[in-house]
Amino acid sequence: MSFLQRTATCGALRPHNAGQSVVLNGWVHARRDYGGINFIDIRDRYGITQIVVHPDTHPQIAERAKTLRSEWVVWVRGTVRMRENPNPRIPTGLVEVVVDDIGVINEAALTPFEIVDDLQTNEELRLTHRYLDLRRPDLQRNFLLRNKLYQSTHAFFAQHDFVEVETPILTKSTPEGARDFLVPSRINKGRFYALPQSPQLFKQLLMVAGFDRYMQIVKCFRDEDLRADRQPEFTQIDVEMSFVKQDDIIALTEQFISRVWKDLANFDVPLPLPRITYADALNTYGSDKPDLRYALPLQDCTDVAASTSFTVFSAAVAEGGVVKALVASGCASYSRKQMDELTEHAKKYGAGGLPWLRMVNGEVGGSFAKALAEGEAQRLMQALGAVEGDLVLFAAGEWERSCTVLGALRVELARRLDLTSAASAPYAMLWVTEFPLLEYAAEEERWVARHHPFTSPMDEDVALLSTDPSKARAIAHDLVINGYEAAGGSIRIHQNSVQQTMFGLLGFGAEEAQARFGFLLDALQYGAPPHGGIAFGFDRLVMLLCGSDNIRDVIAFPKTTSGLSLMDGCPSDVDANQLRDLGIGILGGKDE
Ligand code: ASP
Repeated sequence: MSFLQRTATCGALRPHNAGQSVVLNGWVHARRDYGGINFIDIRDRYGITQIVVHPDTHPQIAERAKTLRSEWVVWVRGTVRMRENPNPRIPTGLVEVVVDDIGVINEAALTPFEIVDDLQTNEELRLTHRYLDLRRPDLQRNFLLRNKLYQSTHAFFAQHDFVEVETPILTKSTPEGARDFLVPSRINKGRFYALPQSPQLFKQLLMVAGFDRYMQIVKCFRDEDLRADRQPEFTQIDVEMSFVKQDDIIALTEQFISRVWKDLANFDVPLPLPRITYADALNTYGSDKPDLRYALPLQDCTDVAASTSFTVFSAAVAEGGVVKALVASGCASYSRKQMDELTEHAKKYGAGGLPWLRMVNGEVGGSFAKALAEGEAQRLMQALGAVEGDLVLFAAGEWERSCTVLGALRVELARRLDLTSAASAPYAMLWVTEFPLLEYAAEEERWVARHHPFTSPMDEDVALLSTDPSKARAIAHDLVINGYEAAGGSIRIHQNSVQQTMFGLLGFGAEEAQARFGFLLDALQYGAPPHGGIAFGFDRLVMLLCGSDNIRDVIAFPKTTSGLSLMDGCPSDVDANQLRDLGIGILGGKDE
């Protein structure tokens, strides 16, 4: 089928093109009839151009134009001229093309939703017809930005002497705290590859191999329960460096982020970024990824609270716990329903209930006001600096859980009060450091690595590994942007003996450690340089740069929160023969 090939794109024409004869190719975006004159918007990825068909001079073409429907693919030949009614909202809005001839390249069935920005249709329908969804200009903008981020990333790291190396997708399982996706081996029946949760061990081995500076934009896979900002496969910018200290990794990351935010969002990142320890982040914001676009700090009121007659507080403190509080100014007027919702929210994060006080007309009332003796409520409010109109939420008990409960309420209150819109800057970035090295997994009755088992303890905490491992801190660093973990990494263990001690602590006997990580332990015997690195969540960076809060808006073909691809229908059944070849049967039958 022949068609006239374009001489310009639909985003190219400007006033200086007036008088030129051009051919456009594209999709019919919209058609309007004004007094018999046909105005048609033709769209491609570069933009939208208005074309005009005059029935008096071109009666046959006007008839043909009337048959065109949305999303048909057409060619158009005509002459560029200035528009009588310019459209300031689009870059081509000062001109139009007066048509001499027009042809249909391909017709389109009626699309299940309109190809427009601000589409109000359900996401399932969009994902089922993702190729149509991706035609929409606002999604196209996200992917053009994503493309720029690939380019800036490669350029930045190349300028800084990094070597890009591909690591395998069929690997041996590397624990990063999630479940592995497994791939059965046909040739080695009964054995499995794991898809990498990250190239962690490979990048460390590349340091042992002497590459010194490695980077890769790489797909990683984690079989986790999904949340709004998670996908089972996602992209990381993976980085590793030799002969570095944590400050070197932080400094390089800051340069990268400030370059990208300048180039892609025209935002000047104030450097150096603030750093806060894990303990301080939890104490002040109740989260290890605090959103600092707003303040709303948590406060500690353990001492005052313990001295009141409210037994929930005194009991918590007697058991070694804390009492934390969050003052929400102006929220004293919250209704019963709103308080119930906040209580439910607190319970989701492990709170037994949500004690609260408020000050209205100089009187302090609240959920436990009656349990307090004369003057105690005022004393508490005063200690917290709470004033008329304030609502104060409390959490009492174990430190980490109390902080986390109020941290979750802090985020929820900020959402209700729309605090991010009032923020002085659109982005708030910070580092969180000094994470605990280990955490205790009660069900398994053993220590597990908080970051991963290859993260180095802080020098001054190495001795704690044999005395009080819970107190040992890691040389780990997370970059937090607007409440999202945008990047995370650490200095690694580079000595075989320390790595063995670590495996021992994590409950791997020498034999198991050798079976699982023998290749790493071997490599560490052959002159491993001190090294460390970081990995950025590429999709999250794009999401933040696009101002979206939905990770699916920046992934071309994403999965739903149940891990399904609605467009191609995976995961799907496979042929019985394929399973037989792999020696696999489905215990208990498959899920319907
Ligand atoms: N491999 C780690 C992760 O994927 C990042 C790192 O330590 O560099 O979270």
